[in-house]
This record gives sequence, structure tokens and C-alpha cells, in this order.
Amino acid sequence: MSGDKLQPQRAKSGVGFVMGLRCLRCGREYGVDEIEYVCDCRPNQGSDMGTLDVIYDYAAIRQVIDPARLALDPDSSIGRYWPLLPIARRTSLPPLPVGGTPLLEAPRLAAELGMRRLFIKDDGRNPSASLKDRASAIAVAKAQEQGRSVVATASTGNAAAALAGQSAAAGQANVIFVPRTAPPAKIAQLLVYGSTVLAVDGSYDQAFDLCTQACLAFGWYNRNTGYNPYMTEGKRTVAFEIGEQLARWLAHQGGPGQARMAVPDALFVPVGDGCIIGGVHKGFSDLMRLGWTERMPRLYGVQSDQSAALANAWRAGLEVPEPVQATTRADSISVDAPRDAVKALRAVRESGGAYIAVSDEAILAALLPLARQGAVFAEPAGAAAYAGLVAAAAQELIGADETVVVINTGSGLKDVAAAMSMTGEPLMVRPELGAVREALAGRGL
Ligand SMILES: *Cc1c(COP(=O)(O)O)cnc(C)c1O
Ligand SMILES: [Zn+2]
Repeated sequence: MSGDKLQPQRAKSGVGFVMGLRCLRCGREYGVDEIEYVCDCRPNQGSDMGTLDVIYDYAAIRQVIDPARLALDPDSSIGRYWPLLPIARRTSLPPLPVGGTPLLEAPRLAAELGMRRLFIKDDGRNPSASLKDRASAIAVAKAQEQGRSVVATASTGNAAAALAGQSAAAGQANVIFVPRTAPPAKIAQLLVYGSTVLAVDGSYDQAFDLCTQACLAFGWYNRNTGYNPYMTEGKRTVAFEIGEQLARWLAHQGGPGQARMAVPDALFVPVGDGCIIGGVHKGFSDLMRLGWTERMPRLYGVQSDQSAALANAWRAGLEVPEPVQATTRADSISVDAPRDAVKALRAVRESGGAYIAVSDEAILAALLPLARQGAVFAEPAGAAAYAGLVAAAAQELIGADETVVVINTGSGLKDVAAAMSMTGEPLMVRPELGAVREALAGRGL
């Protein structure tokens, strides 16, 4: 990951503090103007398509921001990290602030799991109610910087909803390809924000390929995950926020103050394409390169056993996963051929974590403690991260003294049907006090 080998003339063609891009497959380096999406070495081959990694000028970034200066920035959105983003200017970000989501301590859940310290990073509290806002903000910023007429994406739902919201904020035309089976709340978000929506009679993987073809044919800017190299870069802001928030929390406990950032021991991330976990890994790696932290958290990637291409590859020691036929109820992590497999497998391998596959039953069951003891209403994919922690705790992968963070990636309001399948219906009463008494009998209220 050393960016220092790039020639200085490359830096001249950079954008912001980006010096260039490097293929994770063949190692070839490109200037920012020389390539848009994936490396020529093997474009468009499912999970092994020559994904590019973005290289920054860290020495220059250190001149403009550091933890102490960040602590004084009143803007809690991802704009505070703009020198670490692949954009030319802070003002290129759409005027709908993304990030700054709370890191919530969950002592009752921690006690239940026999753990000392557990936090939930609630990214359901982004403007379009998922972590995808962090990536889509970058997509719209880049489309606007380049004056592109249309930005497009294929999505299981949330990336599209995020693109729709960020596009609405910026007045950017956009086209969205979703599988016809996406939950209605997500499709409603697209339509209400005014996107042009194409519901594909097929899987997410088919929608992905169709979107890529359309972008090439019509000259649209392509936001597709694992294809557009800049999406990871936006998603990694969640790591920067956790670093700052944990440091602040420790300072309140009488720790070393805000001069540096802090790192959890273990971090649980739900995984579909693998872009989020790749981004989280890069985010924490960047904090170390910048000298703001001293170690990496162990990253645990959580998948449904009904969509476990990466967990399977991890167990089998493969570099490129075998596609599966995903059927999980957790639609946001339902992926046949993960598009960011290289970054996703590397994240877990290099950090000393693991992939964990959990059943759909365990995922849905996790919705309830997360809400009832943690006060976070998650969509099934977000609950999967917590289900993974429950499994990891049972396998004694977590030390009793460790600090753990679970990322909730999406709001429960995205998929109300899944939540209701776990709760049952409310008690029906006639509008009379006697009926209330009757209904509550034996409930200890
Ligand atoms: C997209 C998404 C994920 C999975 O992210 P990948 O980058 O595809 O691994 C998990 N949870 C939610 C809510 C999502 O929208
Ligand atoms: Zn390559």
C-alpha cells in the first residue's frame, strides 16, 4: 500500500490529495486522468475485475489536518475529512450532510454477552438512512466536478436511495437499476427523490451488469460498487468517525485526550459485495499511516449463510470467491458474486479477524435485542453484524476486556415487514378502559 513510489508528475494530474490509482490485481499504477473505473488487466469478470485502490499524498494531508484541528471543526459531516477524500474541493460534496452518526454505548447488550465495552455505530441515522450515503455523496461530487449529465447505479436498494437523495440535493440527474424484489420502502425513496428507476426483472448481479453496459453506451457516470474505485473511499469515513468518537469517549473517562484517535479491539461489519469492510480496513490503515493511531482493529465480516460467497472463500483459503445463489432475507447483503472481494478478503486477513456466516433466523432474531437493549432499530443486514458478534462471543473470539464496535449499516424503517415478522401484531382493544385492563391482565404493568 505504499503510495510513495508514484512519480511526482503523476501527482500533478491528481485530484485533491489523490496521487493516483493502483490495480489490486496486477499492481499497475495510473494517474487520475488515465483511468476511470477498473484496470485493463481483466475488466468485468465478476469478483476478480481489477479493482483499483486510491493512493493519497499522506505527507501533504498531514500538513492540513490532524486530530487536534479536526476536534475544532464544527462540521460533523464527512466534509471534515475532505483532504482524505478523492475530491477536488470540500464544496463539491452535495449540500445534504452525510456522516456524523452517533457511536452509542450499549452496556446492557455488553452485559448480556459477557463483554466489557460494546458500542453501536448507528449509520441508519444518515440522510437516506444507510451507510451508503457516505459513498453516494462522493459519486455525486465526482459527477458534478466532471460535469457529467447523468450518474447511474445498480443497487440492492440502499446505494440507490443514497444516490437518489444526494442527487436531489445537488440537482443531479440520475438513473437507477434495482432488482424488482427490493423492499418497497427503498423503491419509494428512489421515486420520491425523483430518480429515473428501472426495476430489473432479475437479480442484483444482473442489474449490476446492465447498469455497467448502459453507462458505457450512454456516457453516464457509474457509481457501481466494487467498480467505481472511489466508493470505498467515502465508506471509510465511518472508520475516521469511530477513531474520533472513541478517543472522545476515552477522554471523558479520564484518558489521554484528543490529540490522537482511538481504535476498538474488534469491529463487526455486515458484508455483501465487501465494499464497506474494505473501506473500514482502509480507513483504519490510513489513520495508522497518518500517525494518529498505533494499531488496527480485528475486522469481522458477517454474512448470511444464504449469501456466503466471501465467508466460504475465507474458510477455503481462496483469493477469488466462487459465486453462490444468494437467497437471504437480509436483502442488502444478498450478493451472488461479491464485487469488492479482493479488498474484502484482504481486510479480514490483514487485520487478524474472521468471516462469520450466520443463519437468517439468527439475523432476524438479532433485531430484537439490538432494539430492546441497544435502542437501535436496524434493518436485517445491520442486525446481521450483531448476530455475528453473538456467534463470535459464543466461540470465544472476543476477550472479556475488549472494546467492540458493531456497525449498524441501515435503519429498520427500510424493511418494516422483516421487523414485524419478529414482533407479531399489537394488542387490539375496544376504546374502553375495561378493555385495556383485560388486555393487560397478567402482563405485570
Ligand atoms: C450495502 C449494505 C451492506 C453491505 O455492504 P457491502 O459493501 O456490499 O459489503 C450492509 N448493510 C447495508 C444496510 C447495506 O446497505
Ligand atoms: Zn490490473
